[in-house]
Amino acid sequence: MFQGDDKIKTNQLFTLAIIVLTVIFVSGCVSPDSISDYMEEIQPYVEDIVTDNIHEETHPDTTVPTINGDLLTVHFIDVGQGDSILIQINDKNMLIDAGDNWSGDTVVSYLKDNDVEDLDFVIATHPHADHIGGMVDVIDNFNVMRFIDSGNPHTTRTYENILIAIDENDIPFSLAESGQTIDLDPSVTIEVLNPVEPTGNLNDDSIVLKLTYGEVSFLFTGDAEERAENRMIDEGYDIDSDILKVGHHGSRSSTIQEFLDSVSPEVCIIMVGTDNRYGHPHEEVIDRLNLFGCEIYRTDLDGNIIVKTDGRDYSVETQNSGLVIPMTAMTFALTAEA
Ligand SMILES: [Zn+2]
Ligand SMILES: [Zn+2]
Repeated sequence: MFQGDDKIKTNQLFTLAIIVLTVIFVSGCVSPDSISDYMEEIQPYVEDIVTDNIHEETHPDTTVPTINGDLLTVHFIDVGQGDSILIQINDKNMLIDAGDNWSGDTVVSYLKDNDVEDLDFVIATHPHADHIGGMVDVIDNFNVMRFIDSGNPHTTRTYENILIAIDENDIPFSLAESGQTIDLDPSVTIEVLNPVEPTGNLNDDSIVLKLTYGEVSFLFTGDAEERAENRMIDEGYDIDSDILKVGHHGSRSSTIQEFLDSVSPEVCIIMVGTDNRYGHPHEEVIDRLNLFGCEIYRTDLDGNIIVKTDGRDYSVETQNSGLVIPMTAMTFALTAEA
C-alpha cells in the first residue's frame, strides 16, 4: 500500500525528475527513448518508496462486504471540460485530478466548502492540462500527504510546475502501477487497474482505479481509451462497477461496448464542458450508454454530481436537480448476498 514517506528519496527523485524533464522540455520532444530514459533514471528511487509499502496481493477479492455504517461521499466536481473528483470517508480525503488551468479556484473553494484541510492522496490520472491544470493551486492550499502520478513525463510548463511544487512542499511521490492498492481508509478498497507501465500514450496510461465499499463500487477511468479498456478486459480484472466515470469525457475513443458490458454500470457519469471544442460527449457513446440502460449524469447539464453511499445503498444528488436517486429507492438484493 502507499503509506509512510521518505523525504530524502522523494527529494532525490524530484531533483532528478526535474532535471530530466527540463532536458526533455528544452529539447522540445518526448520520444519513447526519453521516456524510457526517464523511467530508468527514476526507477531506483521510486522502487524504494513504493515497494516497501506495496500491497503484494494482486487484485484481491473485493466482494466481501465491509459495511459498517460509515458514509462515503464521491463528488464529481463541475470544472467544465476536465476531471476533478473528491472522495471522502471518515475524515479522509482523496482527490483525483484538479481540472484545467482555470479550474484551480473552483476546485480549491469546493474542497474548502467540504471541510478539506488535508488530502491523504492526490492522484494525477495523466498529465493532460484538463486533469492537472489546477494542481498547483491544490498543493498551495492543502496539506497533500502523497501524490500519485502515472509516470509519464510531459513537456508542458503546467506539468513541470507541479513537479516543482511537489518538490518545494516535500510531498511524498509514487508512481501508480496495476496491482497496487491505495490505503485511504480500512472501510474501502481502492485498486489500481492501470497502467501496467507507462507506454507514452498519455490517455491510455491514465491511472484507473476501482473503489469498493461494501456492495457499492466505482470505476474511475481518467481518459483511458480503447487499448487500455481492452487490456483490462484481457487481464480478466473484475471491473464490474455500479458507478462508472465514463472515460475521456464521453469521447468515441473510449467506452467500447465490451468494456461497458464488463463494467455493467447502473450510473454513468460524464465529466464534460458545455460547447467544448472536441464535441464531447460523442453521440455514439451516449447512444451506447442509453442502449445499455445506465442512468446518465453530465457535469455540463447537472453541475456537481454527488454520490453518497453507506456501502449498501447509494444516492445521487446533482447541483441543478437536487436528489435524483434517493438511497431508499436503490433496492438491491444485497442482504441476501451479504
Ligand atoms: Zn481529459
Ligand atoms: Zn487526456
